[in-house]
Amino acid sequence: MAWRSSGSSNAALINNLKQNGLIESGRVKDAMMKVDRAHFAPSSPYDDSPQPIGHAATISAPHMHASACESLLTYLQPGSKVLDIGSGSGYLTAVLANLVGPSGSVIGIDHIQPLVDMGNANMAKSEEGRRMLDSGQVRFVTGDGRKGWKEGAPYDAIHVGAAAARHHEELTEQLKAPGRLFVPVEEGRLQHIYVIEKSEDGSVERRKLFGVQYVPLTDAPK
Ligand code: SAH
Repeated sequence: MAWRSSGSSNAALINNLKQNGLIESGRVKDAMMKVDRAHFAPSSPYDDSPQPIGHAATISAPHMHASACESLLTYLQPGSKVLDIGSGSGYLTAVLANLVGPSGSVIGIDHIQPLVDMGNANMAKSEEGRRMLDSGQVRFVTGDGRKGWKEGAPYDAIHVGAAAARHHEELTEQLKAPGRLFVPVEEGRLQHIYVIEKSEDGSVERRKLFGVQYVPLTDAPK
């Protein structure tokens, strides 16, 4: 299904994702329409596939970005606070910022400084992106995302864009109650998406979704 969603423009790609059921909600569609993927993907931006962005990182496929937004959507309301771990190109950070609106905020964290710089530079390619940076609606920081980002916690939603070797408790701790975490986790040679829900009473429930292939969450390069 995924490859069938590629388009010749940003609008065509998003419309195809919607038609093929990979985007379900009108809110996710609108948020992805507002961010031109060409500002974030150096090659074939409107293909529904991951693309290399340098530093052994990739921008994830559009259908995975859609899936992450759909999974977290209840917690992506106007005013919500979000952490995007492994922000890379900054594309999803920008889409998440559209979902939480000017009263909300998204922090993108990456452990490779040139990718943090790239996220900032990509955002600054559009007027709306520059507004989001200037107002603090979007902020990119450098650090080890396996520890989350305490300075901005607690978050309504946390997205992890690289596969974790294990469940990192720090991330669940940095969720609000209620709040939700979307994280790919390595299990042997496979990886699965987990959605981890913290309820109002603080109890935590793990739901295992589908198999995926992400680059790993690693130590920062020396
Ligand atoms: N969401 C990004 C995905 C980029 S690929 C996008 O679609 O563009 C995964 C990213 O995770 C890379 O940018 C990589 O540098 C980052 N990463 C890997 N390990 C990390 C860690 N321990 N802490 C923070 N970022 C990490």
